[in-house]
Amino acid sequence: MQRASEVLIAGAGVMGAALAYWLTRLAPALRVVLVEPDPGFSLASSSRSASSIRQQFSCPVNVELSQFGFLFLREAHAHLAIEGDAPQLSLHEAGYLYLAGERQADSLRALAREQVPLGVRTALLGAAALRERFPWLCTHDLALGRLGLEGEGWFDGPALHRALLAKARKQGAQVVHDRVVHAHDPAQIALASGAVWRCEHFVCAAGAWSGALARASGLRLEVQPSRRTVFVLSCPAALPAMPLVIDPSGFWIRPEGRHFLLGFPPRDPALGAAVTAAETTETETTIEPQWQELDEASWASLAHRIPAFAAMRIESAWAGYYDMHLLDHNAVIGAHPQRPYFHFLCGFSGHGMQHAPGAALALAEQILHGESRSLEVSALGYQRVLRAEPYLERNVIG
Ligand SMILES: Cc1cc2nc3c(=O)[nH]c(=O)nc-3n(C[C@H](O)[C@H](O)[C@H](O)COP(=O)(O)OP(=O)(O)OC[C@H]3O[C@@H](n4cnc5c(N)ncnc54)[C@H](O)[C@@H]3O)c2cc1C
Repeated sequence: MQRASEVLIAGAGVMGAALAYWLTRLAPALRVVLVEPDPGFSLASSSRSASSIRQQFSCPVNVELSQFGFLFLREAHAHLAIEGDAPQLSLHEAGYLYLAGERQADSLRALAREQVPLGVRTALLGAAALRERFPWLCTHDLALGRLGLEGEGWFDGPALHRALLAKARKQGAQVVHDRVVHAHDPAQIALASGAVWRCEHFVCAAGAWSGALARASGLRLEVQPSRRTVFVLSCPAALPAMPLVIDPSGFWIRPEGRHFLLGFPPRDPALGAAVTAAETTETETTIEPQWQELDEASWASLAHRIPAFAAMRIESAWAGYYDMHLLDHNAVIGAHPQRPYFHFLCGFSGHGMQHAPGAALALAEQILHGESRSLEVSALGYQRVLRAEPYLERNVIG
């Protein structure tokens, strides 16, 4: 028997959940169905995210999405409460601190200048100012630091995901436990169970598996899983007022309660992009951390920058997949020009947790009104994929 919905969303991670939330809030009578193969979200990036938020992107549209995301997080109790019960998202407001040696200082300064008109408030700090503000930091090989003053920090991403999904369900969205095999034809969306659905709008929000789903549906999209490991460390020394630090050598580190989270960019891209197939959701049950990333050399660069970490302990680690869009490390939001029923909401390349509220609102408005009214996201449309014209985000962390 064929089933029908007006909007069928593949993937109920934070993107699918946020889209279902906005659609059912803006159009309460709309029939919205999410198809999700992994009801515990054991592999979903939304369960494995470091859930930090920053303004310091190179593309203006990413700044706008972050600004929207930050306001949404601040007001989440009003948006997402159910019968007076508000989610606890533990938003911690603290800046990102990008560090630069002589070689990177000019581009850090240039980016700071470019972003003033976008409303990004940062302070440029020379080595002496850095030392004064963060006495636990080794600054002798640094020329500059750029510290976010507003709209940056970290939060409980999995709690945001759960709250969006719960609110969407409360507003009438339905979740089906299945997997979309392909969406060649809106009259016949094929699911792994053998069920066939009909819809007016199909949305590919399958996170790191979106490239595989698009290809199975006959469309080009180079989004693939790329493994990242997050190490949980403890350190005997106190590091007062610690921001999220991004070192010129590539690592990032930030406090998390009484511990610290640490990550590295993949040294060997082949290790980062460990899997490429959609079938991973069927066969994989866990994603192993790459313990070897925290070897002598990377530990030495951490202890060099923050000497207190010479005495650190590794408490644990987890890994997850960045939803990497290989074209330009930027999301795709919007419909395919030749297949207007097929919408993309994917490819967020490691910054999707913070962008989910804004990106999903933009797509919800496109579906409901034919255009995004609240945010200007046309730079992230699928047209650039068709033309193979990258819209490059230069500030991708790790
Ligand atoms: C280690 C790590 C650190 C990160 N740190 C940050 C950060 O600091 N800040 C930030 O903003 N972002 C961060 N991210 C990125 C962010 O978590 C992701 O961009 C975001 O969670 C993507 O959400 P999603 O819903 O698109 O994908 P997911 O959460 O992966 O959800 C996609 C869902 O689609 C389902 N699915 C797969 N195939 C199909 C199919 N064929 N049919 C139906 N469903 C399917 C999957 O089961 C999955 O549940 C990080 C990610 C990782 C892994």
